Amino acid sequence: MSLSFPASRPNAYTGSPLDRATHRRDDAEWIAAQLDSPSALYVPVWRARSLLRGLEEGAPEAVLLSAVAAEPLRRAGGPWAFLGLWDQRPVFAVDLSHLETPPIPPEAGRFHDLRQVAGALPAGEASVLAHARGLMHWRNRHRFCGVCGGRCEARSAGHVMVCTHCGAEHFPRTDPAVIMLVIRGDRCLLGHNRRFPTPVYSTLAGFVEPGESLEEAVRREVMEEAGVAVGQVAYHSSQPWPFPSSIMLGFHAEGLTEDIRIDREELYDARWFTRAELRRHEALGFALPRPDSIARRLIEDWLDA
Ligand SMILES: [Zn+2]
Repeated sequence: MSLSFPASRPNAYTGSPLDRATHRRDDAEWIAAQLDSPSALYVPVWRARSLLRGLEEGAPEAVLLSAVAAEPLRRAGGPWAFLGLWDQRPVFAVDLSHLETPPIPPEAGRFHDLRQVAGALPAGEASVLAHARGLMHWRNRHRFCGVCGGRCEARSAGHVMVCTHCGAEHFPRTDPAVIMLVIRGDRCLLGHNRRFPTPVYSTLAGFVEPGESLEEAVRREVMEEAGVAVGQVAYHSSQPWPFPSSIMLGFHAEGLTEDIRIDREELYDARWFTRAELRRHEALGFALPRPDSIARRLIEDWLDA
């Protein structure tokens, strides 16, 4: 059985316009000059929310503040980090979570959960906002050293936290999660998670554990959640998922067995669906995952094969 169903287009939260310019992070003089540059742009993050405008008009876009507009943000004293260069303009993330009310006038925009709008944003903007959100989440969760409990200070333009007591260095975390469409002949396996408000049948997924390969994680998760044995595993694409700190690694997987044994802790239901059933899912009374999700992409690239 061929498991090759190539990615038809880029996933949401990919396609960043930024040059991360990682080699510049340790040049404190250069970073200081960029912070003071009139062309600098600032991406504010407040309690894991991103600043957006145009939502009410149905055309949401990211709000990146100019250096002048961001002056009160810089004075607020929260974590910040250099994200990279956008057409040679330095871009910084700045976190305002410690403030009850962010110092941003309502006409500039409002803070929203990025996941609600990512698919509707102009190309690349969701990636920049996800980048800022993920990095600021890490900063807020690593103020103290995991080795000795000492206080940490930011280095490398916000990309390393160094313990002031024992000197341990802490780096941004990205936790791998596998997400997989299990296929057997003309049918695929989808599960309905009870946490969804409406019956949405989606791909199975789970975190990779220490000492586990991605293929092993795929096989373990499918067996645990649905009791189905998996053979071949083929990589499809990935999607940054900084909610708060993951990357989704997408696969198509070969189902070796048919009987489903559901783990009710994880799933409300799981079934095999034919392509024809998925194409008329609305008539059959269930929904598929959001169009901007890697789960939907895994399903559609198989449907269209
Ligand atoms: Zn320490």
